[in-house]
Amino acid sequence: MIRENISAVQDEIRKACTRSGRSADDVTLIAVSKTKPASDIMEAYDAGIRDFGENKVQELTEKIAVLPDDIRWHMIGHLQRNKVKAVVGRVCLIHSVDSLRLAEEISRESVRQGINTDILIEVNIAGEESKFGVLPEDAPGLIQNIAKLPGITIKGLMTVAPYTEDAEKNRPYFDNLVQLSVDIAAKNIDNVNMNILSMGMTGDYAVAVETGATCVRVGSGIFGERDYTNQRFGPQDTAGTERYGK
Ligand SMILES: *Cc1c(COP(=O)(O)O)cnc(C)c1O
Repeated sequence: MIRENISAVQDEIRKACTRSGRSADDVTLIAVSKTKPASDIMEAYDAGIRDFGENKVQELTEKIAVLPDDIRWHMIGHLQRNKVKAVVGRVCLIHSVDSLRLAEEISRESVRQGINTDILIEVNIAGEESKFGVLPEDAPGLIQNIAKLPGITIKGLMTVAPYTEDAEKNRPYFDNLVQLSVDIAAKNIDNVNMNILSMGMTGDYAVAVETGATCVRVGSGIFGERDYTNQRFGPQDTAGTERYGK
């Protein structure tokens, strides 16, 4: 089922690209595998997926330990400063940076490891009370400050649009994120480019692609509904079992 789901999502992405005059090569499909076991990730891997998104540090590091080394891991969830050490150097992109203090911690750890970490700035594009992310009006100032830090490169913006049954309702929010990225790019800040726009999830990724997403993060549309009630993912699912692809 996972393989069929991936084909269907890739097909939708291609169609959305055609509708909007974009190249499908410009859109990266990130399979969001949170709560799902390593065996599900291997099914997606065998179907050709190499970009995977996780939102919890412990789950992420446990999966990294048992899954193939050529997977590009994306940290897409809220990141606490005391967990930064476990993530820096192990993921290709941190999508969820929304404060200077968090960026400072990522910078410190990157310098300590002698590496550069690519990040996105998470924007609360609809100004929702319950959401993480910097408010759009505060994004340029935050980016100016983060850009001065060593060991860190800002590659673009990320947003989690409001939950809706009608994806079209999110089109104005996606348009606003695109416009914000254009405005920020025009400032030509050192260490900052706006090449990546991470937006669109299972319910609205086609609209996100039409408006300009370069990364879509699709979870349930690939792996099926998540079950949080009995924690299908836990240490017992991977520790001491087979090491997939290693
Ligand atoms: C869970 C999650 C997704 C995927 O959500 P689906 O609706 O299952 O596609 C995307 N982005 C973030 C930040 C998430 O936490």
